[in-house]
Amino acid sequence: MTIKGTTQLLGVIGYPVKHSFSPLMHNAAIAHLQKTGPADYVYLPFPIHPDSLKDAIAGFEAIGLRGFNITIPHKQTIIPLLDDVSEVAKAIGAVNTVWYGSQSHSGRRSGESGWCGTNTDAIGFLAPLKALKQDWTSTQAMILGNGGASRAVVAACHQLGCQRISVVGRNPEKLAWFAESWVNSPDIAARLKVMTWDELPARLHKADLVVNATPVGMHPDIDASVLSDQEMGLLPKGAIAYDLIYTPRPTKFLQQAAAAGLTTVDGLEMLIQQGAAALEIWLDRPAPVEVMRRSLLDYLAQSS
Ligand code: NAP
Repeated sequence: MTIKGTTQLLGVIGYPVKHSFSPLMHNAAIAHLQKTGPADYVYLPFPIHPDSLKDAIAGFEAIGLRGFNITIPHKQTIIPLLDDVSEVAKAIGAVNTVWYGSQSHSGRRSGESGWCGTNTDAIGFLAPLKALKQDWTSTQAMILGNGGASRAVVAACHQLGCQRISVVGRNPEKLAWFAESWVNSPDIAARLKVMTWDELPARLHKADLVVNATPVGMHPDIDASVLSDQEMGLLPKGAIAYDLIYTPRPTKFLQQAAAAGLTTVDGLEMLIQQGAAALEIWLDRPAPVEVMRRSLLDYLAQSS
């Protein structure tokens, strides 16, 4: 990759940010684009302490940063610092992609420049599912966990047309808030049901799509799963088990699902596709998805 005096900055903010795969994936994409034409960008990790978020955004504007991704813990707290937020990000309640420019991507088209935010996690989540089948209208989705990623999955399942979307959590207060938080998205609220884990076994036989949106089973906790073998066995034949986690590959959850004869999807493609969608916003051209995928697969193969 060539960095010159004209090179524009992209990046990812988080705290910590050192675990992020985004610099690897985006710089591989930029290096590839430079082989075929102008792509004068570099993508950097920015560890931003929560107390410094406002200063960091002002600093980014001062140095003319083109855009950035957002990871934990800033996905919600950045919203009031932005000039415009897309409808999908408002519904999800979190932003993972920001760009500086006119606000056309977020639907307001005011023509003014400022920080604009959207959320590409739902696009990323949907990409591997759309490759599996077209019609999801009779699907009953069961989402395990009620954190930030779960919110993007709920919005995505609604976009897919799922008949019912259930969300399982362990904290009744957080669950009640989760249910109430969709008040401005009545179509989603009408299809959404929240429940605690003790209600889950009686519902699993109807779940066509079960999504692990908790960190349970993530490296180094690789022998853990949110479902027992017996619970996984309650899912109907033909069900899809989707784990948002991408390290290890496969997770215990997906090993159990494969043993039960279910279709399995892990979180790597979601990571790639949410990144590709962000790159397309910043560069206004198609992202080299296969290059991004290969960069991560090579890295994971080397580090395993
Ligand atoms: P989060 O906001 O912290 O939410 C985690 C959720 O999991 C919360 O509802 C939490 O419950 C629940 N949970 C945590 N430990 C649990 C346990 N032992 N048993 C039952 N529930 C438990 O995290 P997030 O951002 O939603 O991320 C969730 C997972 O998705 C992570 O593994 C993350 O790496 C992955 N992810 C992947 C992608 C991708 O591109 N593939 C994108 C985003 C996230 P409480 O609220 O009660 O604590």
